[in-house]
Amino acid sequence: MVSKSPRRPKNPTSAARVPNLPSPGILQTPEQVIHYYDRLGFDVDSSIPVEKIIESNPDLDLRYVDLGINDAYIRKIPDSRFEIGVNDKHHINRQRFSMAHEYGHYLLHRDKIHEMPVGEQILHRNGDKNRIEYQANSFAAELLMPEDLVRKSLRSAGGNLKKMADFLGVSKESLKYRLEALGYKVT
Ligand SMILES: [Zn+2]
Repeated sequence: MVSKSPRRPKNPTSAARVPNLPSPGILQTPEQVIHYYDRLGFDVDSSIPVEKIIESNPDLDLRYVDLGINDAYIRKIPDSRFEIGVNDKHHINRQRFSMAHEYGHYLLHRDKIHEMPVGEQILHRNGDKNRIEYQANSFAAELLMPEDLVRKSLRSAGGNLKKMADFLGVSKESLKYRLEALGYKVT
């Protein structure tokens, strides 16, 4: 007999109430992050809720601030916590990529954050020059645009780049890079 999977709870539960779930700080890959928050009842079926993922982490503070020419920052704050700031003047999709990039720094480069400048321009950087930045950009792209969701957006949007980007909550430019990395031809 085939039964329907249980409905998702309306409000995600806290990590403490799901048994055998490790601390969210030990996650290392975008796949692990998505799987972890799926188990907590977050909706990961279309636009990945990166804002909620960051806000629900007790070790992180998310702030929207005027950062001038910079996109975002991550910095250490007391009690072994980190603050992620994103430019409050930017489009939501750009903010989402910026915060996913900083979240990548938090999971992958936590021991180096104190050496990083507070504030960075993410989209204009040639990532290949700097391994850490390249890793954070790849992390953000794979978190916001996992391959199965990209395929789903392609099916529902029929190849329309703008509609696919809206479905995923990303900019057309970052979607284009991601599609090319996944081997799709973008014209
Ligand atoms: Zn960075």
